[in-house]
Parts: sequence; C-alpha cells; structure tokens
Amino acid sequence: MDGSDLGVMRLWPDKFRNWRSTPHFIADNFATYMPVKSSSLKPPNLGGYLLDLDGVLYRGSQAIAGAADFIQRLRNAQRPFCCITNHTCRTPPQISRKLKGMGIPVEPKEVLTAGQATASWLSQRGATKIFAIGERAFISALKAEGIDPNSATPSHVVVGLDRRVSYARLMKAAQWLLKGVPFIATNPDMSYPTEAGSAPECGFYLAGLERMSGRVPTVVGKPGPFMFRLAAARLGLKPSRLTMIGDRLDTDVAGAKRAKMRSVLVLSGHTTRAMAQRARIKPDLVIRDVGRIVNV
Ligand SMILES: [Mg+2]
Repeated sequence: MDGSDLGVMRLWPDKFRNWRSTPHFIADNFATYMPVKSSSLKPPNLGGYLLDLDGVLYRGSQAIAGAADFIQRLRNAQRPFCCITNHTCRTPPQISRKLKGMGIPVEPKEVLTAGQATASWLSQRGATKIFAIGERAFISALKAEGIDPNSATPSHVVVGLDRRVSYARLMKAAQWLLKGVPFIATNPDMSYPTEAGSAPECGFYLAGLERMSGRVPTVVGKPGPFMFRLAAARLGLKPSRLTMIGDRLDTDVAGAKRAKMRSVLVLSGHTTRAMAQRARIKPDLVIRDVGRIVNV
C-alpha cells in the first residue's frame, strides 16, 4: 500500500471508498495524516475551495512549491475557489499582482480580504459613519461601500492593522470605546511574519484597547464565520460543499469548523507537525503543502 491509499483510507471510511473512481485527495508518502473521527467524515463532493494565502500559496515573497500547479489543477477541473486572507493592507488587485509575480495565476475577483469582509459586514448593518483605524487598502474598501471612516459621530469603532497609526487616533478609538460605541475588528492575528522577523498585527492594537476599555471586539475576519460565509456566497456554494485550506489552526481550521466546512491544514506555514499533533483543534486532513493535493 502506498501513501495515496493510506490517505484515502484515513479520509474516507470504507463505505465511501468507491464513491468515485479516483480519490478526492492523493498525497504522497511525505504527507502526515492526523487521526480523525469517522463520524465527522463525509464523501467527497464536487464543491469548491477556500484558500488562505500566506503559508499556503506563498511564504513571504516566495511561492510555495506546487502552488501554481495546484491553482492550475483547480482551473482545469473547473473548481471554484476564493483566496481569503486576514491581511488588510493590500487590495485584491495588489494581491493578484503579487501572486502573478510569483507565477501563481490568481485574479483580483478571486481574492477576499478581511478589509473587504469588514466593509461588507458594516454595510449589511446599515453603518455609514464609523471611526476606523487602518491602512489605505482597508479605508478604500470602506469608502467603496459608502462608509465614512472618520466620522465625528461614529456608530462603530473599527480596528485593522495600521503600521503608521498615531497616538491621537488610538486615544480617540479608546475614548469612543469607553463611551460604549460597538467595537469591531478586521482580524485577531497578534503578529505576522516578515523578513525582519515577527511584526505586530491588528491583535496587538486590540489587546491594548481591550485592556483599557474592558470591551471585547466582534471579529469579522477569520476565525469569525462571516468571512467564510461571504466567500461561500460569492462562489454560490453552500458552506458544506467547501474545503478550507489553511496553515493556521486558530483561524483557518477553527473558522472552517465553525462555518461547517471541511478543513485541510498545510504544514508549509505557521503550524509545525508537532503543533498540529498537540492541538485540540483537529482538521479533516493534514498535508505538507498544496502541491500534495494532486486530484482536486
Ligand atoms: Mg496563513
């Protein structure tokens, strides 16, 4: 028996083994399979994929081996997919350009950022005047939904990563929170990897604002279910027909589970094999990288 068979056996109980003539996932011997409860398994379906970006298709400025081929396989199989990222400092066209620059052919319309999701979340709730902390890409996503990000009478305080945030703006945000204005966050990530090492992300600001105001934000990005549902709606597929592929257990896998999607953890980014084995959150499958998913 080779690794492929092992993968199929672990993923699909015997009763589902003949569901299709070819397995849904074929992985090589380097893949790691985590023990999963057979009760949580479903037969493969002809659904689509949600893909995280950093740690899944690239790491920093380097494409992950096999990522471009994987995207091509999705296209060849006419599988719908959407890249969902918690980063808010780039627009979908900027992200698409970065991906294409690494040889990974992803179009702007195939990218959903936590900035866009937050703008959509606010718009669905009728918000037009808010106080936002964030960079140009996020602010332009808000404006595209007709939302004033710098209102003197905000209905929401909305915090995203701003690498040039001033003390005056943090103070203003804290003061609105102390007055009871609803507290929204684009994403909970505490840090993100850079070439110069780990750098503070949105969660870094949230921690300070939470400590000072005693308030807890509503998170729109991963692992909040809103972003997963928004991506599913964009693809026109029910969450149960989607598989989320991510490199983090606390955002990608936890969020997918909450949104009732299948989840695949790749070990090409944040999470090591040891971390995955220790963790309480168990994805449906653990593989080395997306290049292992031969049959989409
Ligand atoms: Mg990631």
